[in-house]
Amino acid sequence: MSTLLIRDAAHVETFDAADRVLRDASIFVRDGAIEALGPAAALPREADRVVDARGCIVIPGLVNTHHHFYQTLTRAVPGTQDVELFDWLVALYPVWARLTPAALRSATTVACAELLLSGCTTASDHTYLWPNGCRIDDEIAVARHIGLRFHASRGSMSVGQSHGGLPPDAVVEDEASILADTQRAIETFHDAEPFAMTRVVVAPCSPFSVSPDLMRESLALARSYGVHAHTHLAETLDEERFCLERFNCRPVELAEDLGWLGADVWHAHMVHPSPAEVGILGATRTGVAHCPTSNMRLGSGIAPIGALLAAGARVGLGVDGSASNDSSHLLDEVRHAMLLQRVAGGASAASAREMLRLATRGGAAVLGRDDVGYLAVGMAADLAGVRLDSLALAGGAVHDPLAALVFCRPNVDFTIVNGKPLVEHGAFTTLDIERVVAQHNELARALVSA
Ligand SMILES: [Zn+2]
Repeated sequence: MSTLLIRDAAHVETFDAADRVLRDASIFVRDGAIEALGPAAALPREADRVVDARGCIVIPGLVNTHHHFYQTLTRAVPGTQDVELFDWLVALYPVWARLTPAALRSATTVACAELLLSGCTTASDHTYLWPNGCRIDDEIAVARHIGLRFHASRGSMSVGQSHGGLPPDAVVEDEASILADTQRAIETFHDAEPFAMTRVVVAPCSPFSVSPDLMRESLALARSYGVHAHTHLAETLDEERFCLERFNCRPVELAEDLGWLGADVWHAHMVHPSPAEVGILGATRTGVAHCPTSNMRLGSGIAPIGALLAAGARVGLGVDGSASNDSSHLLDEVRHAMLLQRVAGGASAASAREMLRLATRGGAAVLGRDDVGYLAVGMAADLAGVRLDSLALAGGAVHDPLAALVFCRPNVDFTIVNGKPLVEHGAFTTLDIERVVAQHNELARALVSA
């Protein structure tokens, strides 16, 4: 039994069903779950561990619904900076083919660290190539060591260039091995219990890198274990053309044909659904990971988030991989989501609160979690705090603390996951970040220049 007290927060945004805002409030945590929250004077004053939240705004921990951790090794690589998705992939596949277990572990560390510093407490990763002995075990071990709540996707690619796919043959796997290793990952690591720190996701990469058979088999495997299924879909117009030429249907029609719709499925991007397809996604409660920075970086387009939400789709935010963002700053993603919707729909198209809701409750719904995403008694103690007197918020938080978080985009002062402070006073409690970055830079240089 261990207790934690987040004491005397100036401002708590619960994002509960009533959107309650508490002032001068504390949060008492026992064994990783919120036992009480309310006026500081009504709560205990002491606990095994105390986080001083005076002068801070506290929000639910953010939930990241799409990432490729390994890409933190290939940010801003010359030759990939100014091209669209297919050219970008073709340039990077041979580099990623040299990924090693040590590099994957380092990349996972870097991505988790960046996410934590932006207030993220639950993250999904989608790794879809496993060269040179890399395994999902490498990522899960790192996430557990750091303490981030982690949904690990066992991704895959099976159709190489010699069979009309986009990736080189060297980075694809045979389908029997993919399914066998995915089953192993589920049986070894997936935890279906409330407050789970590790869940496994089945995640073939995209229509242009796996076969329809593997899509069907992957979904059947996921459903037989009650785990969620994830892929990329409707990201670019090139992909739409590929699907029309190869399968004689649009990407969402392909997903429908393959059974890839429903409350246990989520798709990254969904930039180009037709109005009818938006209706299908909504009616089936299919999930969408909106990745606005990546969509801007690759010039992919603007996802119709308002229409998807209005239709009933579950929508969360994702930073996407670090080779197309090139940051894992989830609060930055909230800001970009707000701004990009405004490019398409005008200044009232998206508010700070609406977009922060996507990054909290929205992301939790996309990942199929009812124990994170808002602050209430009985929920997981996953939360983040930002000093209202920080430089980034100067002249903003005094007017509207919540809006300032999104418009001004600070780093956090503390991040707590499962009742454990992983960032305190803006620094990591479980990581020697200078050593991590030095090692990562060596690995990144070796990977790209080999
Ligand atoms: Zn992606």
